Amino acid sequence: MSDVYFISRRSGPEGSLIDNLRKLIHKINFVSELRERDTVAVKLHFGEPELTTHLRPAFVRPFIEEIKKAKALPFLTDASTIYSGPRSEGVSHAEVAQMNGFTVYSTGAPVFIADGIDGGNFEEVEVGTPHYKKVQVAGEAHRAKAMVVLSHFKGHEMFGFGGAVKNIAMGLATKQGKLSLHSNVNPYIKHKLCTRCGRCLNWCAPGAIEIREKSAVIVGSRCSGCGHCIMVCPRKAAKIKWDMDFSEAQEKIAEYALGIVKPKKGKIWFFNFLLDITPECDCYTFSDSPLVHDIGILASRDPVSIDSASYELVNQARPNPESKASGAAPGDDKFAAGYPRTNPEPMFKTAVSIGLGEKKYNLIKID
Ligand code: SF4
Ligand code: SF4
Repeated sequence: MSDVYFISRRSGPEGSLIDNLRKLIHKINFVSELRERDTVAVKLHFGEPELTTHLRPAFVRPFIEEIKKAKALPFLTDASTIYSGPRSEGVSHAEVAQMNGFTVYSTGAPVFIADGIDGGNFEEVEVGTPHYKKVQVAGEAHRAKAMVVLSHFKGHEMFGFGGAVKNIAMGLATKQGKLSLHSNVNPYIKHKLCTRCGRCLNWCAPGAIEIREKSAVIVGSRCSGCGHCIMVCPRKAAKIKWDMDFSEAQEKIAEYALGIVKPKKGKIWFFNFLLDITPECDCYTFSDSPLVHDIGILASRDPVSIDSASYELVNQARPNPESKASGAAPGDDKFAAGYPRTNPEPMFKTAVSIGLGEKKYNLIKID
């Protein structure tokens, strides 16, 4: 059982939410384990252009201030996406970070895209798990001496939720790694609903969608399974086969995460922000109303325990009546309101079996 520290979102004249975050950082005291000139990768998702619910730059600055007090060298990082768009290669990805406010002035640290300009900067890490002998990890993140993982906790169509495990695994996998994580997603287009608007084409990096006489069609052999056509189609014509089993993808994501955590044993810390808990992940250009109220921020050395605690805190909360989860009750899986057949249990089961972390946790509340 691992310790997970929790501080509430509640704040007032006696202290802001940023003050709460500082208390949490001091409680877990990760900076005491940094050495002078240690490079520290601060892993986060910079959001897409026009997204409004990703992590705000103001939450990053307290980490950078603390890391710099230890005379270590922090940098903000993420790796390229497999779907088309500005985060699919290094230069425009770094521009998105700037556009969304992650500048050296606002956060105190520069941005380096961990897999380089063309995604070719990576290291292979042996994991020896059921699906992978080795995984490919974005180079600068792997080579950093330490890592602080800042995760916006929200829903995800394949994994149920996106938290610490998904942030490092999907986030720091190379494009080839991301491809393997999505390999069993086979979307299709319902011809009767498709208006041939072409919007999905702009997001389809491998050019797997063709506009034909009556409808768009997906050429299965070219599809990477990134799922973006499903999310961007205004007519909901692009669909997932819901009889598809996501358990393999969930097992793989836990195994991939091991490739990031294993080489950094004792030098990696996780913070989950249970704020703006939206049904969809931050890879889309829109975000629906949060499923529940803002809850708070959690910290742990264990990526599995922190996700387990976050998931249970969201499920225990009352649903937001103006959200997809409006019909749910306290205790229900709130993320199921968006994706009723996605269950994160295979991720937890695999994560525990390979030693990534513990599902059971000891929640320590900080006043
Ligand atoms: S976005 Fe939807 S409606 Fe438009 S072409 Fe693609 S599948 Fe058809
Ligand atoms: S067809 Fe859809 S799921 Fe397949 S690669 Fe293109 S956008 Fe991604």
